[in-house]
Parts: sequence; C-alpha cells; structure tokens
Amino acid sequence: MKQEDVSQFLYNVYNKLYEYWGPQHWWPAETKFEMVIGAILAQNISWNSVEKAICNLKRANILSIEGIFQTSDEMLSELIKPAGYYNQKAKRLKEFCNFLKREFNSDLEKLFALDISSLRQVLLSQKGIGFETADSIILYGAEKPIFVVDSYTKRLFYRLGLIESEKISYNDLQAIVMTNLTPQTQLYNEFHALIVKHCKEICKSKKPICNKCCLKLICNYYNEE
Ligand code: SF4
Repeated sequence: MKQEDVSQFLYNVYNKLYEYWGPQHWWPAETKFEMVIGAILAQNISWNSVEKAICNLKRANILSIEGIFQTSDEMLSELIKPAGYYNQKAKRLKEFCNFLKREFNSDLEKLFALDISSLRQVLLSQKGIGFETADSIILYGAEKPIFVVDSYTKRLFYRLGLIESEKISYNDLQAIVMTNLTPQTQLYNEFHALIVKHCKEICKSKKPICNKCCLKLICNYYNEE
C-alpha cells in the first residue's frame, strides 16, 4: 500500500470501529496513579484479575506511592494475588514507587512532564516495564500521543492485510501507525481501546465472527476465505 493509502485505510478502520462500538472511555481508573499501577499489574493477565487486585489495594487503603512503599512484600503480594505473578509484580510495584520517591519527589506529574521520548526512555529503564506498559502509561497516564501496540493490534492488522506477519516487531508496527495517523492523544487512546474491544468480542483468536464484523468488507482474511 502507498503511504496515503495506509493512512486512509487506518482512518477507515478507526471510523468503522468507532461507529460500531462507540467511545470506550479508557483507561478505567479513578486516578493517574491507579492507572499506572493497573498497567504494571496488567502484564500477562486479564483485566478482570487486575481489577480485583486494585480493589484489594483500595480496601487496604494503600493505593498510593507511600502506601505501597510502606507495605511489607508479603502483604503486598497477598493483596495483588489475583493479578498473577504476584511476588514478581509486588517487587516491581515497590521498585517503581521507590523510583518515583527518589527521582521525582513522589510526584507523578513531574515524571509526566518529561517529553515523550525521555519519558519512554525513563520508563523502559525500570525493571519489568516493557514497550506496551511504558506506552500505555504515556498515553493513558501522561496523556501524550503514542500508539500502544499489543497482540490484538498485530492480529487485527495482519488479518486486515495491513502487515505481512503477526511477528512484526512492536516498534515497527507502532511506526507504521504513527507515521500515518495524526499524533492526537484522543485518537490513539480510542483506537487502541477499540482494537482491544473488537478483538475480544469479534475478531477472536481462534474463531473470528466475521459475519458480524463491521470491517469485513475491507478485510483480507474475510475476502480470501
Ligand atoms: S472480517 Fe473477520 S478476520 Fe476480518 S477483522 Fe472482521 S472478524 Fe477479523
């Protein structure tokens, strides 16, 4: 596809998804700190499990930098158990809070004031924070325009025919999208959320429900079947 075609195609996909599903209101969190904690806990686990862990932290009244920092490792692991890999994730949460205290005087807004590239670099330098988590924090926490890629994005764009393989690297796919869509936080926010929704409900891994899909007329997978 030529660049203008890719751009037009991506906007077309976005518009069709938005028309079908409506606004997704991401990220589901009451505060930015809760959003960041949710992003760290969300690695390799369903969102329902993350919600249970967040709920436990709220109930124990420790959903704050100081609260997490001062809670024992054992207690923290116990509270976030529903989110899986709990010993490892408890360690990561503590390390992240320690980093915020040390480097940003416990002020998340100071971290978020960095420009996108520095913020991404700083987040990626934290143990256990990979591209998807870092970019989710930048997009949904710092509210800066960076496109979040995940396995749903790779699956959908591969089936639609935009990319040749689901094995495309995170950064390569992100670059394709960001070169072709205007860098707008709200657009990237909604697009990622819509892709997740669509892949969970319709473009499922094993049996996509193509006859119900709003993208079928522009989908390679459907049209080649
Ligand atoms: S038509 Fe089928 S394969 Fe294509 S995007 Fe829709 S559900 Fe996925």
